[in-house]
Amino acid sequence: MDIKKEKLEIECPNCKKKFLLTFNTINCPHCGMHFDQEEVHQVFYNYESKLVNSKAYKTGERFKKTGETMQKTGGALQQIGCFLFLLPLAVLCIWFLINLF
Ligand SMILES: [Zn+2]
Repeated sequence: MDIKKEKLEIECPNCKKKFLLTFNTINCPHCGMHFDQEEVHQVFYNYESKLVNSKAYKTGERFKKTGETMQKTGGALQQIGCFLFLLPLAVLCIWFLINLF
């Protein structure tokens, strides 16, 4: 990812108007307030680390969800197993009832 091509919407600390901050912005487009280039870069570096970490967080969340789905599948398989176990018994019961009449 190239943060130098990103645009961040920020509020000017001087005139409180919102504008798009680019990596090379040094002046507010509304009031012309001068920004320190180092500070602007710092904002972008912070943004990048935040973004990267939030992506990692999302991936973690997805893994957690997969785990939950697998647990659910396990539960369903258990139910099928139970059903397969009971099926012969049910057939036996039906066979027994048919033979009674
Ligand atoms: Zn301003």
